[in-house]
Amino acid sequence: MVSYDREDLASGCIRWADLTPPDWRDRNNARIEQQKSGGRFEPFEKEFTRKDGSRVPILIGGATFEEGGNQGVAFVLDLTERKRVEDALREREIQLAAARRELRQMIDTIPIPVASYSADARRDFVNAAWKQYTGLSDEAALGTKWSVVAHPDDIAGGDKMWRDALATGEPWHTEERVRRADGQYRWFCIDRVAARDENGKIIKWYGTAYDIEDRKRAEDALRESEHKLRQIIDTIPAHVVRYQPDGAADFMNRTFSEFVGPGVGFDNLGSVVHPEDYPERSRDWDMHVAAAEPYDIEMRLRRADGVYRWHRSRRVPLRDANGAIVNWYGAGHDIDDQKRAEEAYREALLELAHANRVATMGQLTASITHEVNQPITAAVTYALAARRFLSAKPPNLREVDEALSLIVKEGNRAGEVVGRVRALIKKAPARKDAVEINDAILEVIALTRREAANNGISVRTQLAEGLPRVQGDRVQLQQVLLNLIINAIEAMREIDEEERELLIGTRNEPDGVSVEVRDSGPGFASAALERAFEAFYTTKSDGLGLGLSICRSIIEAHNGRLWASPNVPRGAIFRFTVPTHSAAAL
Ligand code: ADP
Repeated sequence: MVSYDREDLASGCIRWADLTPPDWRDRNNARIEQQKSGGRFEPFEKEFTRKDGSRVPILIGGATFEEGGNQGVAFVLDLTERKRVEDALREREIQLAAARRELRQMIDTIPIPVASYSADARRDFVNAAWKQYTGLSDEAALGTKWSVVAHPDDIAGGDKMWRDALATGEPWHTEERVRRADGQYRWFCIDRVAARDENGKIIKWYGTAYDIEDRKRAEDALRESEHKLRQIIDTIPAHVVRYQPDGAADFMNRTFSEFVGPGVGFDNLGSVVHPEDYPERSRDWDMHVAAAEPYDIEMRLRRADGVYRWHRSRRVPLRDANGAIVNWYGAGHDIDDQKRAEEAYREALLELAHANRVATMGQLTASITHEVNQPITAAVTYALAARRFLSAKPPNLREVDEALSLIVKEGNRAGEVVGRVRALIKKAPARKDAVEINDAILEVIALTRREAANNGISVRTQLAEGLPRVQGDRVQLQQVLLNLIINAIEAMREIDEEERELLIGTRNEPDGVSVEVRDSGPGFASAALERAFEAFYTTKSDGLGLGLSICRSIIEAHNGRLWASPNVPRGAIFRFTVPTHSAAAL
């Protein structure tokens, strides 16, 4: 213990009193003196000095053999190990106390309210944030139930949750209103968990609370604005439908769901599309979705009362910040009335054009009658000749045969004229055909040839060869030409007969075919140039002033242009263009 050996003892260099370090000596001696009289001294702790000068903690106790005697026995226990354990323990306690302080400080400093409850759900700790928020002191808070700061409306529900939790020991999460120091309630998000001892018995509950009032308010505001937006979308007088990125509808506004009526949902929305429109539109839609392109659509939709109505809508993709399609939105409206009006307008125009055609043809009656009469007269003449050849003796059958074939030819000629007149007088819906414009022109010239001849007008043509076919309605294009030719003939009546010339030409243009009608008439003053196309503008006593305006609407319906310009040295040029068939198809 003190590192001396037997030799040291034998050599007498150890004095036992010297084993006690000088700073212990007084205490030591006092104790010995004190106890000597009693014959024994109670064990006490002190130190000894080792041979090398270091110290060793010991426990020493002893007794004298007789009261007041100088001989006795003592024992000494080395306390090094015990001292070490004690020191370590003390150190641990100091550390623990520091850790506890730190933890306490931490819990106090975290900016969210924290409380702990004893196993019977009474508060036994609240942190600084809790006290600051509620305005309650430790004295006011500790020992209270959870509900002292709760909103009255939340207490019943909260009590039930506490009962359940106490029974099961499960952690729980809840949203509760908590009263602030100023009396205002704010929403908190609260988590409570149980702490257990080593036997699993619940010894405490811990609760943290997180202020979500602002979030709640923001949510309320968002809900409110969503509600408003929804109301606007629902009530705007347009049909709004939302589609998923794959094109399947997943929302329709009230206006639209009222239009389609009950029983129509997202799974059978296609059933309201008119059967004639459905397959094509549905295919087109899929194509647009695949290509991520906006889709403009016109189709008939069945209204709640079973009536199909024309409908126009536009569907556009809504993209996120990365450009990915989040949804498609479609906005549409009923265009049935508009469609009907357009149709009625188109029909009226067609009607008018037809009336104009018939009237124009009426102007040609005399000429056309003559045109038809001529082959008939010729046929009669040939028939008479044939009879003569038959009654000859012997009958000249070769001549008869020739006369008969001439009769057939003249009959056909008359038939052709009648056929053309009938085609122009017939009322038929507009067509979109590939028209050989030169052929159509030649037919009109044939019909008007006599009229021109009767007025002493020489007609020339300059028709380009190898023209592409144009897209349109043959009869309507002929009508335009007929109007222009008759106008030219009428205009030229005013000038000397030798100078009356009509030239009709065609040309290939980059975007189609142009047709021009040139006359050598008086032409018009430049101011009258555009007025001529106005409806009801006429300079003729029996004119209606509708011809040119109808011509222009026909050419525009063909995506072409019709205009007038002065001829040189005199007269007028009317020219129109129509796109070629293939170009129009593009
Ligand atoms: P209308 O022939 O019934 O008058 P149009 O619309 O065909 O109706 O023509 C309107 C007017 O344009 C004519 O009255 C005439 O004054 C003028 N016009 C038309 N064609 C010619 C032409 N080739 N030369 C001179 N004036 C013309």
